[in-house]
Amino acid sequence: MPKQQPYAQVIVDISADSADKTFTYRVPGGMRLSTGTRVLVPFGQQTKEGVVIKLTDSHDIAVDKLKDIQEPLEDYPAILPPLVDLAQEISKASSCSLALALRLMIPAEMRAGRIKIKTQTVAQLMIPEEEIEAAQAAHARAKKRVLLIQLLSDGLPHPVNELKALVRDPHEPLKILAEAGIVSLREEEVFRSPYLDSECLQADPVLTQEQTEVLLELLPAIHQGTGRFLLHGITGSGKTEVYIRCARECLAAGRGVIVLIPEIVLTPQMVSWFRGRFGDVAAVLHSRLSAGERFDEWRRIRSGKARLVIGARSAVFAPVTDLGLIIMDEEHEPSYQAENNPRYDAREVAASRAQREGASLLLASATPSILSFAKAQRGDYMLLEMLSRVNKHQLAKVSLVDMREELRLGNRGMFSTLLIERLRACIDADLQAMLFINRRGYAPSVMCRKCGEVLTCAHCDVKLTFHQADRLMHCHYCGTGSVLPSVCPECGSSYLKPVGAGTQKVEEEFKKLFPGVETVRLDADTTTGKDAHEQLLNRFRSGAARVMIGTQMIAKGLDFPQVSLVGAVLADLTLNLPDYRAQERTFQLLTQVAGRAGRSDVPGEVIIQTYKPEHYAIQYAAAQEYRGFFNQEFQRRRRLLYPPFTMMVRLLCESREEELPREVSTQLSEQITAFLAKKPNLKRRVLFIREDEAPIKRIMGQTRAQVLMKILEHRESEQVLAFLTALAEEPWQCRVSLEVNPANLA
Ligand code: ADP
Ligand code: ZN
Ligand code: ZN
Repeated sequence: MPKQQPYAQVIVDISADSADKTFTYRVPGGMRLSTGTRVLVPFGQQTKEGVVIKLTDSHDIAVDKLKDIQEPLEDYPAILPPLVDLAQEISKASSCSLALALRLMIPAEMRAGRIKIKTQTVAQLMIPEEEIEAAQAAHARAKKRVLLIQLLSDGLPHPVNELKALVRDPHEPLKILAEAGIVSLREEEVFRSPYLDSECLQADPVLTQEQTEVLLELLPAIHQGTGRFLLHGITGSGKTEVYIRCARECLAAGRGVIVLIPEIVLTPQMVSWFRGRFGDVAAVLHSRLSAGERFDEWRRIRSGKARLVIGARSAVFAPVTDLGLIIMDEEHEPSYQAENNPRYDAREVAASRAQREGASLLLASATPSILSFAKAQRGDYMLLEMLSRVNKHQLAKVSLVDMREELRLGNRGMFSTLLIERLRACIDADLQAMLFINRRGYAPSVMCRKCGEVLTCAHCDVKLTFHQADRLMHCHYCGTGSVLPSVCPECGSSYLKPVGAGTQKVEEEFKKLFPGVETVRLDADTTTGKDAHEQLLNRFRSGAARVMIGTQMIAKGLDFPQVSLVGAVLADLTLNLPDYRAQERTFQLLTQVAGRAGRSDVPGEVIIQTYKPEHYAIQYAAAQEYRGFFNQEFQRRRRLLYPPFTMMVRLLCESREEELPREVSTQLSEQITAFLAKKPNLKRRVLFIREDEAPIKRIMGQTRAQVLMKILEHRESEQVLAFLTALAEEPWQCRVSLEVNPANLA
């Protein structure tokens, strides 16, 4: 064992927003610490938790000021050394404190010791098999003891709680047997497992030609730990099976695996596919686990009992030792970007972690993000493709319906004549359908028919969405619900009307057209409970419900063989977003949702209703042609200088004081302009600087202003970013955060 260094630098976990405090403490003799160990330290008059980030042989503190570390919280480093480094990187990149970045690395429940390890008593026979009979004879008059010896005769440990089901009150007889040296009783840790009923191990399917070819490239690289791949595999091409084979190869070589999946796709279905093949070696991490479950899964990973982790975004920080592979499913998903505190992009963190720990990286999607596909074309990733469906299943036939034409023909409803006709045929044939609209609630705004006033939230500069279920107007930004006023707050008329459509409205309209046909609705409102999501999916899988209506939640990952019809009720919704990625998002969502149909021998059909049938995003989605879309979108981005040719950078200013953000953003913009004026070579790289209110002026009572910049992707631009980072960190009067290509520009 190496000699313990006598001093430790500790990051003290104080309040989230304060600056970092690194303090040096003395390590008392006999205490073993390493980088990443959590410790209790004296801090002022209090005791605080902290993390050792460095051990040293010397220090430059007055000796009488040095205090001793009180005790380690665990006898192992809870944060693996490479993850301490990763936290440091994140804290720099997103200008948050290291204390905050370190919190990403452990379950929240672990801090402040809020969760206890659960234990149970287990009994095990201590005598060799040939002595069992004699032992039973010796206790022949105590029936329970004889029975217990019998039950334990396999020599394996049995939880006493389970024995209770077979022998009433086993504690006393077990104690006697333990005293006689026949049985041992001890406390063992219990792991609360979120998916206990994982089915028995399943056999491997025979790989398709394309799967085989792709794996031929992947497996050798995984062995070397240097592979960087982008797998473009169309919906239903069998990407999951590829993940499974890669993961297994990696595990067999003794290395760990992380599989990242967007939260909404992290269905029990996906988990059971992995559990079905890897059993208990697979751990699961996501936000719907209970605190105890999450903590226990984390410990199973940290202790090495689980070597494969399936999880949402934050599982990229899972404490896997000797990491060999990170897989990122649906890599195009915006939800891989954490938007605040700390802000990070799981794609970048995964790449950095893979690099740091000598692991391979596999990004995969049916609709890769423009940024990733461009990187693959540049050679940063090796591009792999699977362009046909498993078992020769055909992609569904797609029809576009021009809703302007419907209106002209006098159809004012939300369903076109074609969609109604196909829904009827589908239901008559005892098949299933999905209806997609990317907006929850009943009506997205409430408007006065007399004066045109649109009702907005009192705390946010956002339209209120009317929900039929509770007949309240909800704010989708802060969550408050308010009663629909009887008269217009602006003109006093009583012509307030919910306008537009969301999932609830679609469901209502459907029920009017098809009374008695059972539906399930899947959106953020119906899936809040712990198992709600799973129950709704089961209702559909069992066939009890015939039609599933939902937001983007139903667009991906789901594999229902009986779905023959998919209808996109209003495809243009995402197209109208004020964001340069609106085209990309629309193409992705429509292609993914179209991919839900025709996943078995039942042929599929997709109907896309739109007011812009000629738009290229909709045309290419209908043709399910990724490359065509990529080429056109890439050209557009080049022409208009959007990412990946530039970076969209903004300094966001937020405060409860109404005037402050705008004052600060003005000062920021002046300082930036002054800086660039002195550096003409850098100024050339900055295409524009715009100082203004943020598109959403107020969220949860905070006023927001911004300086938005478009900066060329160029080596020299690093210097501009460095300046902006330093600028954002200065002590401004309100909160200032620097965002580079944020997921959300609202
Ligand atoms: P993707 O994620 O690419 O959309 P999936 O991984 O969901 O596709 O696979 C689609 C379906 O094909 C699933 O039902 C899966 O079990 C099945 N499948 C995948 N690979 C094979 C194979 N080699 N043989 C038979 N069925 C397969
Ligand atoms: Zn609000
Ligand atoms: Zn009015």
